[in-house]
Amino acid sequence: MNPDRYSRQTRVAGIGEPGQIRLSNSTVLIVGCGALGTHLADTLARAGVGSLHLVDRDIVEWSNLQRQVLFTEQDAEQELPKAIAARDRLRAINSTIQITGHVADCSAEFLANLPERPDLVLDGTDNFPTRYLINDWCRQQGLPWIYAGAVGTEGASMVVTKESACIRCLWPTPPAQSDVGNCETTGIVAPAIAAVTAFQSAEAIKLLLGQTPTKGVFTCDVFRGTYSVLSVADRPSDDCVVCSGGSYPALTNEPAQAVTLCGRDAVQIDPPDRPPIDLASLAEQLKGTVEGLALTAHLLRFEVDGCRFTVFPGGRALLFGVHDPLRARALYDRWLA
Ligand SMILES: [Zn+2]
Repeated sequence: MNPDRYSRQTRVAGIGEPGQIRLSNSTVLIVGCGALGTHLADTLARAGVGSLHLVDRDIVEWSNLQRQVLFTEQDAEQELPKAIAARDRLRAINSTIQITGHVADCSAEFLANLPERPDLVLDGTDNFPTRYLINDWCRQQGLPWIYAGAVGTEGASMVVTKESACIRCLWPTPPAQSDVGNCETTGIVAPAIAAVTAFQSAEAIKLLLGQTPTKGVFTCDVFRGTYSVLSVADRPSDDCVVCSGGSYPALTNEPAQAVTLCGRDAVQIDPPDRPPIDLASLAEQLKGTVEGLALTAHLLRFEVDGCRFTVFPGGRALLFGVHDPLRARALYDRWLA
């Protein structure tokens, strides 16, 4: 290895050669290879974290290139799986570390079968069910993880360690995606991702070095120019089912079932215990973003991302124009979760 590779990083007080060795002996799981995940992976690969595991179930699309830093036009043209495109790009950036790309849904089963135990898990997802899964699994395993989310011009991030509150201590159940907005309907600017992942990756490096993480929730609005850390309860709650109850709801609940419909270019997704969908307010939210929006007494139809959705009030949906269940799950969570 070229001796200059990490020379500017080891010069920083508190890192040095011993810190660099700690990083090179560390394993990090990054869940999601979208905007957050690619920024995080880029920073940690360049910093010399010894083993990176990337998991994502989706493919590279043209709408990703505005903010998902590891991808190229060629990746979008070839519709490469994000975990593979990111892995290959990262290998060209740093050939001295191990990079593993998993084209998979980050489920309880996936986490249970990881080939290597991570020291830290980073949230690069775009949905709350997966964040609560990460929370519950990390609590069960005694691992730290770092939450992050961004939408519009805003972002937020928080370190969760054994000593701190977990995400369920603060918000016992996942918020509805429609309450917080998402990148599809509200949009997203790249600097919001850069700001929030700057906090998240700095905290990641600190944790791997054995330094004390920042307490509280980092929030920013990059267009208003506001950056702050809000204080929240800084210890596990006695009322939390995970921290005090020792139960891990996201690990035991069945994931949404995706079934390819035989003989049709369609996948059915039927989540077992999701709250009913208010089709009228969903239709209102999607107006102007999707094509062919049609609401009847029994269902909602629309077309987006090359897929035709038929959604029923109980949350069951038929996705036409896709046959890969992973792709269908990704589209379902993007538009309906
Ligand atoms: Zn908790």
